[in-house]
Amino acid sequence: MNTVREFTTKELAETLVGPRNTIPPTLVRVMTTLKAAGMMRKLILTAALVGLAFVGYRLIFPGPFSTSQNTNASGRGDLMAQVTPGSMEVDWVSGSPDCAQSDDPAIQVHQYNSMTYILRQSPCADFEAPFMYLLIGETRAFLLDTGAVDAAPVARTVLGLLAEQGQPRLPLIVAHSHGHFDHRSGDDQFFGYKDVEIVGDEQAEVQMFFGLDNWPEGVASFDLGGRSLEILPIPGHHPAGIAVYDTLTGLLLTGDNLLPGRVYINDLGSFRSSSQRLVEFIENRPVSHVLGGHLEMDNEGMLYGSSSTYRPAQRDLQMTREHVLALDQALGDFGRFAIYSRGDDFALVNTGNILTGIGIIVVVFVGALVLLGFRFIRRRRSRAVTAKIP
Ligand SMILES: [Zn+2]
Ligand SMILES: [Zn+2]
Repeated sequence: MNTVREFTTKELAETLVGPRNTIPPTLVRVMTTLKAAGMMRKLILTAALVGLAFVGYRLIFPGPFSTSQNTNASGRGDLMAQVTPGSMEVDWVSGSPDCAQSDDPAIQVHQYNSMTYILRQSPCADFEAPFMYLLIGETRAFLLDTGAVDAAPVARTVLGLLAEQGQPRLPLIVAHSHGHFDHRSGDDQFFGYKDVEIVGDEQAEVQMFFGLDNWPEGVASFDLGGRSLEILPIPGHHPAGIAVYDTLTGLLLTGDNLLPGRVYINDLGSFRSSSQRLVEFIENRPVSHVLGGHLEMDNEGMLYGSSSTYRPAQRDLQMTREHVLALDQALGDFGRFAIYSRGDDFALVNTGNILTGIGIIVVVFVGALVLLGFRFIRRRRSRAVTAKIP
């Protein structure tokens, strides 16, 4: 007859770690004591839960990644000799602890060179404090992004800069690094100017305007007259995301896909493919600076609060080709379930997973409430029935 009996601690220990003579006597004594105190099962359960929690934590928050890549820079000098230089000597407006007292201009203008301007909205105008880029050719000009608030005088500033280049003013194309509101809120200001054309911010509109038939594959050329831009689809942060490469200056504009701060991933698969394409794209092209849509980090690598309107001691806006490689590497190591991971110069945040996590918490919370409600009703009913029985 089969009998069900409990394993002795000794048998359990032997099953776990081998025959008797390999188990240290101290361990056997500890296990016997724990079993006698009825704690063995609790201990195993706790250890399993702690292990599970640790694995879960590592999946969601993988360790920090390196953003300094050792790449062979030889041969790059020749490439760099082909580009027109510019200046990044600038202190970006930093907002204020009390924006009512801030004397920042709503839009700061930095002249990179005679045909290239970088504009930044003050953090006091909007905490997003986005950057905008004006690239001027011989026959037309190109503005990438129009900022986060329609109150900031984007059109007046940009058209004023173009008027300084000579009369009649050059026609202007207004495009967007992507369709988020903080990069297109100033679009309205350009309505009504017959020499200004605004590219829509939906993927199909961007695709059609630049002739990117194979979206997101392929690269489109866009000529400004003696200055050719290359447009590369980089969806992943936003479905209509593009990178703009300026063959004249070697500037690579990466929008919110790569910037000194938080890089928000909305579609990890697309983001990874985009980063790989970006790496291939820069392989044989000179890159003077990689410039993103925001600056959210101080010169010691600390991130500002995500809605901070005061950003003292900002680090440089410009990044390098090595950061493009580092982004690709970091994304490769960033797990499917990861939410947050950071390196020295930027952090990765998977917003898609955050939303899924919030969804799961809401479902569990609502489910628990419903269960509790049912239990409460059942108890009241059974009490009522008991009370009726004489
Ligand atoms: Zn964005
Ligand atoms: Zn943005």
